[in-house]
Amino acid sequence: MAEQRKDLKSMTLEELEDEMARMGEKSFRARQMYRWAHEKLARGFDEMTDLSASFREKCKERYEYVCLEPVRIQESALDGTRKYLFRLGDGNLVESVRMQYRYGVSVCISSQAGCRMGCRFCASTLDGLERNLTASEMLDQVYAIQRDTGQRVSNVVVMGTGEPLDNYDNLLRFLRLLTDENGLHISQRNVTVSTCGLAPQMRALAREKLQITLALSLHAATDEKRRSLMPIAQKYTIRELMDACEFYFETTGRRMTFEYSLIGGVNDSDRDAELLSALAARLGCHVNLIPVNPVKERQFVRSRRDRIRGFAAILQQNGVNATVRREMGTDIDGACGQLRRRVAREGEGGMPKESGS
Ligand code: SAH
Repeated sequence: MAEQRKDLKSMTLEELEDEMARMGEKSFRARQMYRWAHEKLARGFDEMTDLSASFREKCKERYEYVCLEPVRIQESALDGTRKYLFRLGDGNLVESVRMQYRYGVSVCISSQAGCRMGCRFCASTLDGLERNLTASEMLDQVYAIQRDTGQRVSNVVVMGTGEPLDNYDNLLRFLRLLTDENGLHISQRNVTVSTCGLAPQMRALAREKLQITLALSLHAATDEKRRSLMPIAQKYTIRELMDACEFYFETTGRRMTFEYSLIGGVNDSDRDAELLSALAARLGCHVNLIPVNPVKERQFVRSRRDRIRGFAAILQQNGVNATVRREMGTDIDGACGQLRRRVAREGEGGMPKESGS
């Protein structure tokens, strides 16, 4: 049976150097290829024009070179936000979003095909987990979007489909490659990883001492309420999560962010705001309020606009830095995971792209 090809774009420069040594190549070959893959964002070995044709053929036999092509792009007429749907080598679909801000271009990527966390308000978890994404599949969502628009990506948020800390090793490899000075070299401070709260992995991530921002999806300030929204809350209490957050802050010096999706009549009372204030104030966390995106399979509705304002005001009165997430791309399958599910059901074969490029 043919040996499985190794995933070249998930390799660090050092690993690639070892590979080249094994192939009897000089070590500068590794640097050359790494640059093509991670800095010039080549689509395949044939674009690596300073490598001989025979060497490129040898590489094709030995290595898999992950390069995602969008099967669909939707662009918001309101704010230019672009949603990309990519098909992976095995047919799985993943979604990524590109948002243009004043400060730069931010890309939101998926870390898994599907998700097994089961949060009640989330569309990405409705069909469960298909599989983890490799580091190269996470990276190439960023690379493909930069290739598509030609504009440098400045910020990356791991907030698409999947629980990144449930795919810990690949996530870490991805973070190192993404921020590596020989690649796109995105500043660690411009990278955010969002978790539903896997306490042991939050602690492990702290020990890596990266300068990334860790965001905790809290969504409720009592265990009882959190358990009714997020199955993971059966496993880790808010107390355990707050301890992990404190450890993260002490170890990395990075303040954490709490995400809190406001669901009408469920977690948006004054009392909820007071309890959330107490948690956030103690750790100096920033709170990101997200008006919940209604998912048609679920009954949740978003809080009214004046309620959102009132909720944010209570946090601010308690000295907590809170912002309401500006909604982007509301005209293009709002909630994460919705485009992927819809297209997976319809079958994406032969469908036209919805915008240019
Ligand atoms: N698994 C990670 C990252 C993916 S979700 C996490 O749980 O943090 C990114 C954020 O969007 C999370 O805070 C998640 O709870 C929130 N979210 C998911 N579905 C949503 C919806 N329908 N409306 C508002 N926020 C939602």
